[in-house]
Amino acid sequence: MKFTKSFTDQAPLPQASLDAALEVLQSASLHRYQPMDSSACNPVAGLESEFAAWQGAKYCLAVTSGGQAMQLAMRTAGVRPGDSVLTNAFTLAPVPGAIHAVGATPVFVEMTQDLVIDLQDFAQKAANSGANCLLLSHMRGHLADMPALMAIAQSHRITVIEDCAHTMGATWAGTKSGNFGAFGCFSTQTYKHLNSGEGGFITTNDAAAVARAIVMSGSYMNYDRHQSVPQDHYFESARYQCPNLSARMDALRAAVLRPQLNTLDEAIAAWNHRYAVIADCLSRHQQLRIPEASALSQRVGSSMQFSLPAFGESDCLRFLEACRERQLDLKWFGRSEPMGFTSTHEHWRYVPPQSLPQTDRILATLFDFRIPLSFDDSDCRLLGSLLLECLDETLAGASS
Ligand SMILES: *Cc1c(COP(=O)(O)O)cnc(C)c1O
Repeated sequence: MKFTKSFTDQAPLPQASLDAALEVLQSASLHRYQPMDSSACNPVAGLESEFAAWQGAKYCLAVTSGGQAMQLAMRTAGVRPGDSVLTNAFTLAPVPGAIHAVGATPVFVEMTQDLVIDLQDFAQKAANSGANCLLLSHMRGHLADMPALMAIAQSHRITVIEDCAHTMGATWAGTKSGNFGAFGCFSTQTYKHLNSGEGGFITTNDAAAVARAIVMSGSYMNYDRHQSVPQDHYFESARYQCPNLSARMDALRAAVLRPQLNTLDEAIAAWNHRYAVIADCLSRHQQLRIPEASALSQRVGSSMQFSLPAFGESDCLRFLEACRERQLDLKWFGRSEPMGFTSTHEHWRYVPPQSLPQTDRILATLFDFRIPLSFDDSDCRLLGSLLLECLDETLAGASS
């Protein structure tokens, strides 16, 4: 039996997004600081206030991408060329890319088998690396023990910037990811929790910091046209000191995003339901390990990861082949070459090579797939049972 649904499926955009997009196109006012002659609220300014309210942060700035959000957050936090910036060894390419873009050097921190940053390795590198900043990637939605992490960061005076590309809506003890560190960075790229093709947000409670970020995002002197904005005096120095890096979000993307925000909580519940159905199937197999989450954390199950710790490379390749025959398009973090969206620290050769034996061992048998909202319960059950079938077939092949 084959799986016929696509892992790259996209939920349709709400009709309200199409209507709002058309309205923006008809007005031809695609720039966020248009129209200049009225006090009418531009969709970007409206979206920023609405996202800040949903997130529970004082300020939100909308930008061109999640990558730009991370770059602006690091610059705003005072990361300088030549600095070291701590980050997860288990992440995706835009994270080390953002660190490189601000002239800094990533220092990778090991992961645990539950796919979060290893706090022991973090504490050690916080003490010894000379870094003043941690770009914490909540990779694939797995949250570390946030109070413990923040305590380590505070004791070493390390600014934490949270990469929430996979955790928009995830919580630790009821607090949303992005609200622990100095900044939360989000992506609205198509494969994340909101879809505008490309786009991103920075959230923060720090008035002086958001003023710098707003000017750097390319506001010229139009910061008074933001709604989610601190008082004018916070711009007194920023308006002269901060370079314009032209990373504004445009009105069309904001128009497409605003209606999606209204149904985001429903989408999160729908993802978590699908995740639970698949996890229930997979948890029946002894060879397969699903990462464990603390009872205090609430993920958004928009993707799933599992490992096959007893497998060697050839077993993994045979398992992938069995999956491919059933049209199950799994990602594997153990591949020697970067492929599609998946790459690992060894592939980022612009970064000085670093020894991460624990991460390498975990990635060697780690598999990954998206859970599109177009999968219904029966798709999820079929997916689970097909994966188990592939696993049994691989194990039978290994012993024969
Ligand atoms: C997608 C992603 C980002 C941001 O990506 P953009 O494509 O620049 O919006 C950041 N971190 C992770 C882990 C991601 O997957």
